[in-house]
Amino acid sequence: MRVDVIGIFPEYLAPLDLSIVGRARTSGLLDVVAHDLRDWTHDVHRTVDDTPYGGGAGMVMKPEPWGEALDAVLAGGPPGARARLVVPTPGGRPFTQELAESYAALPWLVFACGRYEGIDARVAAHAAARAEIDAVDEVSLGDYVLAGGEVAVLVIVEAVARLLPGVLGNPASLTEESHTGGLLEYPVFTKPPAWRGLDVPEILRSGDHGRIARWRRDQALRRTAAVRPDLIRALDPATLDRTDLAT
Ligand code: SAM
Repeated sequence: MRVDVIGIFPEYLAPLDLSIVGRARTSGLLDVVAHDLRDWTHDVHRTVDDTPYGGGAGMVMKPEPWGEALDAVLAGGPPGARARLVVPTPGGRPFTQELAESYAALPWLVFACGRYEGIDARVAAHAAARAEIDAVDEVSLGDYVLAGGEVAVLVIVEAVARLLPGVLGNPASLTEESHTGGLLEYPVFTKPPAWRGLDVPEILRSGDHGRIARWRRDQALRRTAAVRPDLIRALDPATLDRTDLAT
């Protein structure tokens, strides 16, 4: 997968050299290129922002550097691929595991990192009509306001990269996770069996795989009901059994 990130703080993406994402890049499964938006300015101050039409506080990112940046980046993508342009914004659709899974199936993501009060709205409108772009997604990390889109890129790229085939050592890790299958994950334990007066539940040491699976499902149901009742309400009733309903 190819990922291009455009913004005014390309150095903010340094953590993408580390851990799972870093290994995916080293092994050639993921190609990430960070671009400095100011490379497409033409004044001595390398200006990327201006005052908002209509008045109000703050500054808005100018469309011209964005237009030129996208012209250049879109000219250099993987042969034959169309890009998904992802624009992080608190006004976007929520980023979810489902969206991460759909991105993991795409060949090319281009991120536009806003700063200040965001990017002139014509940039996304113009991009949506370009042949090199399959769709423009405005995506939000959550109901709060960050200072810029770079943190959203770190989150989205990490969530997507670990889904790429070959990136995780054991792909089974992906099948029983929170936000996969509708429930939050059950609590997990490792050795030692007793620690500071707390014991690992006996059932997990019993070797009885049927009882262990039932215990884990009960724990997942209880945790989800306590923390995220909205997820319980969204479950397909056909996926529940009699014991689930008793839990
Ligand atoms: N004025 C904007 C608004 O009220 O919707 C907020 C702009 S915010 C200060 C600057 C940039 O941070 C945004 O353009 C976006 O790139 C990023 N950002 C802030 N909060 C975000 C969130 N919840 N999800 C994704 N990106 C966010």
